[in-house]
Amino acid sequence: MPDFLQEAKELFPYTQALRRDFHMHPELGFRELRTGGIVAQELEALGIEVTKGVGKTGVVGLLEGGKPGPTLLLRFDMDALPIQEQTGAEYASQNQGIMHACGHDGHTAIGLTVAKILNAHRDQLAGTVKFCFQPSEEGTNGEEIGGAEMMMRDGLLDSPRVDMSLSLHLWNEKPLGWLGVTKGPVMAGAEEFKIKITGKGGHGAIPNVTIDPIVASAHIVTALQTIVARNVAPLDTAVVSVTKVNSGTAFNVIPQEAALEGTIRTFDNGVRQRVMERFEQIVRGTAQALGCQADVAMRRITPALVNNEVMTTKVQETARRLLSESGLDSGYQTMTAEDMAFMQEKVPGCYFFVGSNNQARHLDYGHHHPKFDFDEEALIHGSALMAAAAMDVLNTR
Ligand SMILES: [Zn+2]
Ligand SMILES: [Zn+2]
Repeated sequence: MPDFLQEAKELFPYTQALRRDFHMHPELGFRELRTGGIVAQELEALGIEVTKGVGKTGVVGLLEGGKPGPTLLLRFDMDALPIQEQTGAEYASQNQGIMHACGHDGHTAIGLTVAKILNAHRDQLAGTVKFCFQPSEEGTNGEEIGGAEMMMRDGLLDSPRVDMSLSLHLWNEKPLGWLGVTKGPVMAGAEEFKIKITGKGGHGAIPNVTIDPIVASAHIVTALQTIVARNVAPLDTAVVSVTKVNSGTAFNVIPQEAALEGTIRTFDNGVRQRVMERFEQIVRGTAQALGCQADVAMRRITPALVNNEVMTTKVQETARRLLSESGLDSGYQTMTAEDMAFMQEKVPGCYFFVGSNNQARHLDYGHHHPKFDFDEEALIHGSALMAAAAMDVLNTR
């Protein structure tokens, strides 16, 4: 077995240069033309067959191994966020109001590094590696679906048919050296809700002839807290967060309407059903009791991201061998969401986390923060583990 950690270390100047270039030139979802162009160019330079425009700005590269075997998809997301960067880094964003604040610049650089490493060992690969550079993971950015679904709609998982997948996220919630590789659900299924409460507006000093949607909204927000507290079993997991409340125009006017928005997160389908049922009942029932009309719109963002047992066991073994036992966390889960979940609904996969914060160097702001930045040594861990896991998954069956 090649020494992938050593190879990733040797390639670090390449990885870092790419990452910093992507960081300086971030692009929003479905606008990753410059990024995708560099990706295609780098893959083509290795002799890898490239298809552009898969899911609008997505790029796919096909690396055929020297021996027959299954097709393994390696997925890396490329999009940035609408955030004004405040890191002050020398490689800070040059695009006003756009920033790589989630680490996808690092993912893209890792993907190209992994392509270099695996290409050098292609004779030893028993199967085909399909490199997937995905647009718009952070949302739909004005389209009806996000990047993962857009690529799947364009046939990402067909010809050659994808048998399994690996993907990763640099993770600033955890320190450099930590690795999260967990079986079963690792990220939550997410829904977005929008509620409109309609009452009857009027004078703030004559409430008795009005129906106040603000009072009803306040009761609804409070009552929704009972779903997690009273309806979900204590050892099960769910989140119900109201994150936006909008109503009113003046201190002496009771408004006609109030709008609430927020998100629901769950790991388990049964729990999800129960939470959705109670949500409807509470919103409608509370509104009705207070004389208001409630309209509820619920949109599914992603299903839960569930890791395959067999593949995850292999990746855990690879991680132990490559980066020692001490940093491996095999029980980590988070309530954030990821559109890789759509692909893992179709093909077995393992999605793992690579610890990337460094408190001593103040590289520990959370994802999506304007000062987000990570310890670039994590790029070595990500590249090495992805390359080694890809070879292990293909060659040990
Ligand atoms: Zn993000
Ligand atoms: Zn992300």
